Amino acid sequence: MSNAWLAKKTWAERRAYYHDAHIRLTAAAKPRRCVICGNPFKCRRKKVRVCGPRCRAFLIGLPGIRLTAEQLKRGAATRLLHPHTGPFETHHQAKYWSLQSPMGDTYQFWNMAYFVREHKSLFKAQDVIMQGYETLAAHQLRRLQPDRNYSINSWKGWKWHYVLSPLTTVRSK
Ligand SMILES: [Zn+2]
Repeated sequence: MSNAWLAKKTWAERRAYYHDAHIRLTAAAKPRRCVICGNPFKCRRKKVRVCGPRCRAFLIGLPGIRLTAEQLKRGAATRLLHPHTGPFETHHQAKYWSLQSPMGDTYQFWNMAYFVREHKSLFKAQDVIMQGYETLAAHQLRRLQPDRNYSINSWKGWKWHYVLSPLTTVRSK
């Protein structure tokens, strides 16, 4: 479609033309699932994770937004599957950790909760029980990071492991 052709059209016709193109491109987009209610939706923008204004309001915490119990359940199930929101090293809030165990072994990893789940044998049984949203081991190991408020030097022999060249693997975002 040439610009000369478009220039002859009225404003409303040009708007209709671009709107048609938008509808066509959106229909061709790959479907994805809303991270709040779990409904499938299509969008051309890469970063959009929610199906519409209602779920977006819920996501950013606007007051007065109620979702049904079924919608919340479906959303929670969807979040567990996605690499950025599920219990994986690719979680969007996962941070880089570099620790030394009481045995002297060093561990460099993304995602503290994931590490503690996968290495339960390194801790005492009572330290890896879920208390609220995390385990005592994960809570205390987080405090070993030197830049934190309330950071501690060691916990049950675990220490922060200083490295000159930190882990360079980039999370698949
Ligand atoms: Zn939704």
